[in-house]
Amino acid sequence: MKIGVVGGGPAGLYFALLMKKQDRGHDVKVVEQNPPDATYGWGVVFSDRALSFLEASDPDSYHDIERVLQTWDDQAIVHRGQSVRVDGLGFSGIARLELLRILQDRCRRLGVRLQFGTRLTDLAPLGDCDLVVGADGVNSLVREIHREHFRPSVEVLSNRYVWYGTAQPFACLTLTFREHRDGVFVAHHYRYAAAASTFIVECDAPTWAAAGLGGASDDESRRYCEDVFGDALGGHRLLSNKSTWLTFKVVTNERWSHDNVVLIGDALRTVHFSIGSGTRMALEDAVALARACAATPEVSAALREFERAHRPAVDKRLGVAARSFLWYERMRETLRLTPVAFAYDYMMRGGSLSPERLRERSPKFAAAYEAERARS
Ligand SMILES: Cc1cc2nc3c(=O)[nH]c(=O)nc-3n(C[C@H](O)[C@H](O)[C@H](O)COP(=O)(O)OP(=O)(O)OC[C@H]3O[C@@H](n4cnc5c(N)ncnc54)[C@H](O)[C@@H]3O)c2cc1C
Repeated sequence: MKIGVVGGGPAGLYFALLMKKQDRGHDVKVVEQNPPDATYGWGVVFSDRALSFLEASDPDSYHDIERVLQTWDDQAIVHRGQSVRVDGLGFSGIARLELLRILQDRCRRLGVRLQFGTRLTDLAPLGDCDLVVGADGVNSLVREIHREHFRPSVEVLSNRYVWYGTAQPFACLTLTFREHRDGVFVAHHYRYAAAASTFIVECDAPTWAAAGLGGASDDESRRYCEDVFGDALGGHRLLSNKSTWLTFKVVTNERWSHDNVVLIGDALRTVHFSIGSGTRMALEDAVALARACAATPEVSAALREFERAHRPAVDKRLGVAARSFLWYERMRETLRLTPVAFAYDYMMRGGSLSPERLRERSPKFAAAYEAERARS
């Protein structure tokens, strides 16, 4: 089979390597607009350590990834300067560039053709492919070309965020909330290498406007955020990687494929960063699509099977993500709570965690919350 993949992010690279591994006779090409060592963002976090689905699919890349993962058990939620620990969660982080490098190496070893520095503007160069995979991210060209078939919906959230790095090696995944003269900010920060962390700053639209961040330069924005989160940063600077203030696009598609063309990863649907699952779900799409292709030789039937088998799990996760981003869009309303009650409200925001499950998973935190309630 001749396979053309648009986009060399986690979804495209992982699907390419799985297909080549399935059958060395497949001719698999990945077309990527950027050079191999270019990436946006810093590190990504996985919401739990259960990346074992990667081990079953491709042990070689799994072990390379596992070797460089930063892992931790607790999450901290800082409100009114008080840090509340939620035990027993289990997160892991990795530099996005490191993840891509591992997947690129694995693709090369298997014989996937990687074509960097080529931005596609139409699908003519892949016209002779039996299967075309749109793994080209949130602003997908493939989705746009076939929009009347995929029927995408793109909702733009009102909160603003900017993705920085810092050398401060945070102990665990932390959310630091700040009530500031201009409004309300939250930083999502976590270590992804021994001395490197991601630091995403988010605020609501009125705060962003009051702070004048719309007209601020890169340096001015960084200095402003360093001022808001000075104590969390412990004297470290924020690092910019062409970091600009963005709004999050919530992308979904009514249909996942058309003829021999299919979408995966962020091109198919985005997952709000507050549930730390976008990369993981992109990799899961790749696994599910490769599985459907192995089971069903006829391409369009395999693509329909991919959607049938995989869509229920994806839709469930998107429901959690939607409740999570709405919580952030309304975070002002929750700030009146005490730090422990605030952390509890945060933990329950996705609607997928019952009080019983929280008690089992995070016994120390649940006990602290129940003790506070009993006192009040
Ligand atoms: C602020 C922020 C924080 C995040 N944090 C996390 C996190 O902590 N954990 C997590 O799991 N996820 C996180 N994510 C989400 C994660 O980054 C994405 O879900 C993931 O990268 C999706 O992988 P992908 O391969 O589908 O798309 P991408 O990683 O976007 O890759 C798409 C690729 O396609 C290429 N491309 C696009 N158009 C073309 C074209 N026309 N021709 C050729 N190439 C093209 C692009 O250059 C890119 O390399 C975060 C996202 C944001 C915005």
